[in-house]
Amino acid sequence: MPLVTLNEILPQARAERRAVCAFNVVNCESAKAALMAAEAEDQPVILQVFHRLFGDDKARYVGALVRDLADHSDLPVVLHLDHGQTIEHVKMAVEYGFTSAMFDGSKLPLAENIAQTRTAAQIAHEGGLTIEAEIGHIPTTATEDLPLSTPEEAAEFADATNVDALAVAIGTAHGFYKSAPIIHTDLARRISEKVAIPLVLHGGSDTPEDKVREAIACGFAKLNIATEFFNVFLEQVVRESENRGDSFIPIDLFMNPVTDAMAAFAATKVRMAAGTDT
Ligand SMILES: [Zn+2]
Repeated sequence: MPLVTLNEILPQARAERRAVCAFNVVNCESAKAALMAAEAEDQPVILQVFHRLFGDDKARYVGALVRDLADHSDLPVVLHLDHGQTIEHVKMAVEYGFTSAMFDGSKLPLAENIAQTRTAAQIAHEGGLTIEAEIGHIPTTATEDLPLSTPEEAAEFADATNVDALAVAIGTAHGFYKSAPIIHTDLARRISEKVAIPLVLHGGSDTPEDKVREAIACGFAKLNIATEFFNVFLEQVVRESENRGDSFIPIDLFMNPVTDAMAAFAATKVRMAAGTDT
């Protein structure tokens, strides 16, 4: 079926206290693996492209690949820009046929984040895309002093910007943790009481599973997974290289078990997010 937007899948997921996985995809193998996992579990899925890939032609052709995979699937699939840094990135997402975009102004002062996110939301909506934004910066590596979102700021931000989904900081960080993170699920609950739109959990990799489940129960309906998913790729490539030894193997055949390993990993996250594994 044709690609869908966040609004076709996330409000219902939030109402049903489940989440939809958003996998970062960069190539044929990662895109195919994420979709294979969603199909195996019969769940909707978000395939997202990080803003760095908008710096050359990768976002355009990965987007075209995702669109083709979705057209040949019966599942609802969203094609989403992850961590768009500029209004220009949002315009490129519209041009490339994405159905959703994130504008991340979380490093800006609040008033400036609100102003720029409003503009991004207007451009996205005019192009038929949904928009995600972020308040309270979610860092790249966990530090002692994690900036957290407040319920009041989150509610003000959602009202003022007209966004469709909101990433809030509750203690998660991007990448692998150096020590166990403190995930503030009490804060997640208080934010969800004030903000009606679906919330987004960034830094879903390596976060304790019980905390992720608690966040999902509090209205986090989009669960971002990048680091762990990519790590499966890297580790499986090493394994396949060792298996190959000195013998030649065509790259498509070499990559098949890599794709399968990524799909198997992704399926565990899809089941957890959907609550079908308990
Ligand atoms: Zn993120």
